[in-house]
Amino acid sequence: MTSARELLILLLLLILATPLSSGQIPTNVAKQATDTTAVLLRPARVFDAAGEQLREGWVVLVIGNKIQAVGQATAVAVPPGTRTIDLPGMTLLPGLIEAHSHIFLHPYNETLWDDQVLKEPLAYRVIRAAQHCNNTLMSGFTTLRDLGTEGAGFADVSVQRAIDEGMIPGPRLVVVTKAIVATGSYAPGPPEYAPEFNPPKGAQEASGSGEILKAVREQIAGGAQWVKVYADFRRGPGRILVPTFSVEELKALVDEAHSAGCPVAAHATGPEGMRRAVEAGVDTIEHGNQGTERVFRLMAEKGVAYFPTLAAVEAYSEYFQGYKRGSQPYTEDMQQAVQAFKAALKSRVIIGLGSDVGVFRHGDSYRELEWMVRAGMTPVQALLAATSVNGRVLKMENRIGQIRPGLFADIIAVPGNPLTDISAMNQVKFIMKDGKVYRQP
Ligand SMILES: [Zn+2]
Repeated sequence: MTSARELLILLLLLILATPLSSGQIPTNVAKQATDTTAVLLRPARVFDAAGEQLREGWVVLVIGNKIQAVGQATAVAVPPGTRTIDLPGMTLLPGLIEAHSHIFLHPYNETLWDDQVLKEPLAYRVIRAAQHCNNTLMSGFTTLRDLGTEGAGFADVSVQRAIDEGMIPGPRLVVVTKAIVATGSYAPGPPEYAPEFNPPKGAQEASGSGEILKAVREQIAGGAQWVKVYADFRRGPGRILVPTFSVEELKALVDEAHSAGCPVAAHATGPEGMRRAVEAGVDTIEHGNQGTERVFRLMAEKGVAYFPTLAAVEAYSEYFQGYKRGSQPYTEDMQQAVQAFKAALKSRVIIGLGSDVGVFRHGDSYRELEWMVRAGMTPVQALLAATSVNGRVLKMENRIGQIRPGLFADIIAVPGNPLTDISAMNQVKFIMKDGKVYRQP
């Protein structure tokens, strides 16, 4: 009879001598195997967002999480064992990029903004945000620049991490954490609340360059990749739209963010707030719905990009001014926003897609594409704004925004031709992010 020790040695030898069956591949090897999986996408046509052309009969080869080759079927060498996904009648496009979102907010006709910020527990807001990220990805938006957690602190950094680690499905996130506002110039606060009551704010307050530098440094240390600042707000007598920071304060903010390698996004709705932010050197202007041709020309000269958030203006009109979606006439705010958009187009400002989604339902960012076309862009201009233009503005053009070899395999497909009918963008039938297929017809 063999001893227990001898039996153990025999067993060990047996295990070592047995070749690995397919079910026993160590996880690191299995990961490498999936990383080199080749997929050939065969749509009717490709919009690669490198230019305005549609490429009939093109195919896209994806290996692992990168685009390997793009071109005519006959010109793309397909390795043996490649899986083919046929997308008949469909147009293939780069995954869409939304440059102005708030994953911690949901529509204000469900819950008012104040009640979200003051009454919703952080844990609840984070769970909601995870669901919002899933809905966003499943609508074909594979990247979001999320412009402020609105009272949820640094929670965007953790949501970003959970997505990157594959724990939850969601778009690539570019995060700013808390955002920076001038003291007494953001909500919740007076005059809606008693001045002796100081409720937690939807962003970090700062005044003077000392506090501003501290806020910028704290947010960047906490994981901010961009810095968001509110350059104007309704305040003072009559609660009218006025600038909140001086040019000097804004310059201090921009210089510090830039020295840490972070670009700056400025919320600015009126011409003076926009002008100050541009003078200070910000990289993007958000809203600008009362912008004049003069300030848009200044932005064009300085290469500052514009995110018009037209769909959010419509949503506000719907919630608070009795506007019925899709109807005429537009509210005064909507008319003003469309006028500003036309002025921006005329001034040749870089215009990207940024909708302020969160004000309206996550997963509905296609509404901004429709608005950009309604307000004067051609469908191809709007699609470029949502892809290669946004990729450049986010300084990620070597990773996302086009269908080009070497870029991440963030690819979607819609039925028909969105260059002739932009509403096709509301019917995304195929979704791939980072080489992984999330939806397939
Ligand atoms: Zn916003």
